[in-house]
Amino acid sequence: MIPGDGIGPEVTAAVRRIFEAAAAPVEWVPHVAGLAAIERGQDALPAETLEAIRHYGVALKGPCTTPIGEGFVSINVRLRKELDLYAAVRPVRNLDGVPTRFNGVDLVIVRENTEGLYSGIEAELAPGVVTTTKVATEKACTRIARWAFHYARQRGRKKVTVFHKANIMKLTDGMFMRCARAVHDGEASEIGYQEMIIDAGCMALVQDPTRFDLLLLENLYGDVLSDLCAGLVGGLGVVPGANIGDHGAVFEAVHGSAPDIAGRNLANPLALLMSAVMLLNHLAETRDDEACAAAAQRIKDGYNRALAAGCKTRDLGGTLGTEAFAAAVIERLAA
Ligand code: NAD
Repeated sequence: MIPGDGIGPEVTAAVRRIFEAAAAPVEWVPHVAGLAAIERGQDALPAETLEAIRHYGVALKGPCTTPIGEGFVSINVRLRKELDLYAAVRPVRNLDGVPTRFNGVDLVIVRENTEGLYSGIEAELAPGVVTTTKVATEKACTRIARWAFHYARQRGRKKVTVFHKANIMKLTDGMFMRCARAVHDGEASEIGYQEMIIDAGCMALVQDPTRFDLLLLENLYGDVLSDLCAGLVGGLGVVPGANIGDHGAVFEAVHGSAPDIAGRNLANPLALLMSAVMLLNHLAETRDDEACAAAAQRIKDGYNRALAAGCKTRDLGGTLGTEAFAAAVIERLAA
């Protein structure tokens, strides 16, 4: 468990309370990363934290602050690269009790997490002239495409849509698109497949998101589209996520450390709670642990009942604080 920065400690504390009340079979081992680590005089991503995730194979992580336009490299980007957590998966669904412009939104974002424009290769060519290098490798593009089609098959998803800008970035986005197409044609032709130029895709998404099922995206597009899609179903307070590799998985909400509301008991803990439920389901699947599956269901029922009863934090139009929302979920765990 990495509490993280900003609202991180508040939302992770709420999740721990709910897990305890639900008798979820999880023992948390706390570790630091981000500003919390720097404040203790440690590296922003301490070796012990990485070692613990390698050892246990899973982690729940609160958001970590990254200085904007200067300072240290993002902990989130480093963590995903160090542990090779190449697939970010973010389910985006309408929730009962959270009315939004659209009904029936049920899509999954699969984002390539290790390269693209987030490779950290930046240079100053001359004063006033700077560059960032976008990297695409056939290996990583094929690996994420395989992962996405495998996930689609396992979860009964019917269509994979790739958003790209291969008309302009012919080599990098071209590679991403060609690898996805090759995996589809060669290994998963029973699943629907579609390619869209990302600008037209964004328009189609905000006109009718129910037309989409699984979105397969390179790193930057996946980052931006995750927040866009969160906005379609109620905002960053309701979209969970997981970063998955072949040897480990880190679960975290899509949202950041929200410094504007940190320490004020205003943050919605639901996105992290939903991420923690994904963690339980991951343990249930990978370790054949029925107690984890049952706890995941208890918690999911609890938050669904709370939302249906109108118990909501302010970002969803309610009045509850972080702790009161956690209490509302706990009250409804066994109902
Ligand atoms: P943000 O997601 O932290 O906040 C965007 C807006 O959404 C803010 O108005 C915030 O108050 C609101 N919000 C976010 N989560 C909320 C919640 N749970 N409940 C209620 N409201 C919520 O994005 P930002 O402001 O662009 O970034 C702040 C910091 O977070 C930056 O340092 C950024 O690098 C970092 N960040 C970290 C992660 C991560 O750790 N995975 C992800 C995104 C951003």
